[in-house]
Amino acid sequence: MKHRSSPEERYAEVIRRQREISLLESCEELLSWDEDTFMPRAGVANRGDQQALLAGIRHGRATDPELGELLLSLEGDAARDPEAALSVNVRELRRRHDRLARIPLALFQEMARTVAFAEEEWGIAFRDDDFPRFEPWLEKIVRLKREEARAIGFAGEAYDALLDEYEPGATSAELDALFAELRPELGALLARLGRSRRRPKRALLARDFPVDRQKIFGEAIATALGFDFHAGRLDVTIHPFFSKIGRGDCRIATLYAADSFGKGLFAIIHEVGHALYEQGLDPVHDGTPLGEAASLGLHESQARLWENLVARSRPFWSHFFPLAREIFHGSLRGVNLDDFHLALSAAGPTLIRAQADQVTYNLHILVRFEIERALIAGSLEARDVPAAWNEAYRKHLGIAPATDREGCLQDGHWGAGMFGYFPVYTLGDVWGAQLFAKASKDLPALEEDIGKGSFGGLLGWLRDNVHRHGSRWPAAKIVERATGKPPGIRPLMEHLGKRYGELYGV
Ligand code: ZN
Repeated sequence: MKHRSSPEERYAEVIRRQREISLLESCEELLSWDEDTFMPRAGVANRGDQQALLAGIRHGRATDPELGELLLSLEGDAARDPEAALSVNVRELRRRHDRLARIPLALFQEMARTVAFAEEEWGIAFRDDDFPRFEPWLEKIVRLKREEARAIGFAGEAYDALLDEYEPGATSAELDALFAELRPELGALLARLGRSRRRPKRALLARDFPVDRQKIFGEAIATALGFDFHAGRLDVTIHPFFSKIGRGDCRIATLYAADSFGKGLFAIIHEVGHALYEQGLDPVHDGTPLGEAASLGLHESQARLWENLVARSRPFWSHFFPLAREIFHGSLRGVNLDDFHLALSAAGPTLIRAQADQVTYNLHILVRFEIERALIAGSLEARDVPAAWNEAYRKHLGIAPATDREGCLQDGHWGAGMFGYFPVYTLGDVWGAQLFAKASKDLPALEEDIGKGSFGGLLGWLRDNVHRHGSRWPAAKIVERATGKPPGIRPLMEHLGKRYGELYGV
């Protein structure tokens, strides 16, 4: 390896290499976005080859021993000021380098190729309610993920090695503790709401809402929230998602249903929350960890904050309900704001996570957490997932789906190779509520602003306190610094108790 005379030069070389790795990732992301939106089905084998090729090149660059040596040579400088750009980037790149270097190239490429097929097959299986079609792909992905976890290594259980990809440092044991705290409180809140005499009129939201008008309404709200359509797109897919292609290019996708007011809309708002985080990162550090989101849990905190804390609030709808009536005219005739808002927030056991109310949402996550953890531990096999799913729904929500389409096939995560992702939704819920509570204190006019359709104050607060820090600190520390307290469930439970208490009058 060439000797570089100064730490500055060596650091510049690290950043040059990292920016190329980041570009390779962005090419993979673009191919993945295309597969989920426009790619003709017959292109799947070619797409698998493309993804495996790019993943292999990226693996080679990211695990290059020369990069490892450069990072090692900078660790002394990094130790001096842990919050400096150099230190943050060296620390985070070291973590990624070590993690990836443990995953064999062949396994990494096999995963990239398999995911291209599995996502496609999951889509067909979901559409046709045909679990047996997806089962061999799920089985293969689980096998590869178990191998991956073994290769990476873990202190507690294998699942932790996978969780770490999305939420660095998080463990199953910590999540167990979090759910143990949440479950009884959510159960108690549901029981309290059950005593209300108010009955949400869910049917109001299942009238005819023409898709072309939903698109107009959804785009108007995305723009109002701050989504920049010059730096992003909104497309249609079978499972809503957000995709960061790169600088100036954040794409979201939703799924409209003509018989649902909220399905397409809240997916748009959720994905806009992700996009606003990305659009708020510091462009100076683009392509390096300091210019990237701290974790997927923090990402979900932003998505869930906009989706729930903002867009399911009373002030939000006191502003946007008149526009909704105008755009959907006949469909909302005779509906008043009280009934509309209660229907939007109706709490109670349902089958579909993405449309679940705020009170039961984390019980849906608990089901997935238990199942994917058992799959990775080897105590559950792919073929037994439908039965395990239905049983877990009975246990945690008291209902069970009649079809796999409404059951274990409803989410695309496993087909996309994402094991260890689901729990970050719950972390995001907890953190998002804590951040919002502090923003409400710091911005006394926040409710009033939301009631005027003005979101710049909140967005500015999130940019200052969360977005612009990138990966400077671990996600939980960013939340703690922003709010002055370590993360905990209290703000979420207080928010839910207040909002649902008012809605249900209990
Ligand atoms: Zn999300």
